[in-house]
Amino acid sequence: MLPNRLLANRAYSTAINRFRVVEVGARDGLQAEKKFVPTEIKVELIDRLSECGFQTVETTSFVSPKWVPQLADHNEIVKKHRRFEGVSYPVLVPNAAGLKNALATGVVEEIAVFGAASDAFSLKNVNSNVEDSLKKLMEVTKIALENNIRVRGYVSVVVGCPYQGAVQPEMVARVAEKLLESGCYEVSLGDTIGVGTVKTVSKMLDTVLKSVPAEKLAVHFHDTYGQALANVLISIEKGIRSADSSIAGLGGCPYAKGATGNLATEDLLYFLKGNGFETGVNLDKVVETAKWFNEAAGYDKWSRVGAAMMAKKSKSCC
Ligand SMILES: [Zn+2]
Repeated sequence: MLPNRLLANRAYSTAINRFRVVEVGARDGLQAEKKFVPTEIKVELIDRLSECGFQTVETTSFVSPKWVPQLADHNEIVKKHRRFEGVSYPVLVPNAAGLKNALATGVVEEIAVFGAASDAFSLKNVNSNVEDSLKKLMEVTKIALENNIRVRGYVSVVVGCPYQGAVQPEMVARVAEKLLESGCYEVSLGDTIGVGTVKTVSKMLDTVLKSVPAEKLAVHFHDTYGQALANVLISIEKGIRSADSSIAGLGGCPYAKGATGNLATEDLLYFLKGNGFETGVNLDKVVETAKWFNEAAGYDKWSRVGAAMMAKKSKSCC
């Protein structure tokens, strides 16, 4: 039996039962993985993900190879992967130099920019406090829009920061508002280190939703402490219908050795389907793609749902 709170929201949930899943494995996932994945395998991963039915597949990051060697091949990636009709392929752009390089490829149509909700995190990551980094990324967004590039915004560390601890929800709201004002079509709220629980995520969302409509928001949870799906549920309850996830849970958390990375796409899809949401994404194909990727890249990464479905297939399960 669902809690009363959730039952009360049922009519709303089923009336708007489309849900958009943004696949970020090739970027957010791989950038945290140490074992290098050859360019041609990344390209095939992006193509296979496109065939699964995602509307958005984030492909790479135009970050300096010094910071993220795994994604040093961003130029080749954007030029080599196929472009399916109706699918957008954002690339992460950390600063003006990254945007310049992305524009120079001539094929990038969408970028993602990010701002943090904590000064400590922002200083450590981009060497500016939140206010200064906002100014810089508003400039990046402006240039992108002038070049007819769509811009998606991210807010990092929305509930907890590895350097300062708790994050003020008001700060998250301010960064989200600024990103939307500057022209982002959507802002994804990221629990970068996966420390959020229903209680803290709920409080953060309630504050943000005072000034930003749910239709303009996505959520981005890491599953470090196994709270990601509970946090998606509470986000759905508050009217949000878009979430980021990573195939096979690719990625990791640099602050927690051995911890899982992003919420796994397979787990999110199983959850959404089981709760009556349409995503347009074929879960079987995603599991097949994860299997292919593990074999091709020499990885052994499995989502809980992927592992269960594979076990059922091979009838090795009791
Ligand atoms: Zn992330």
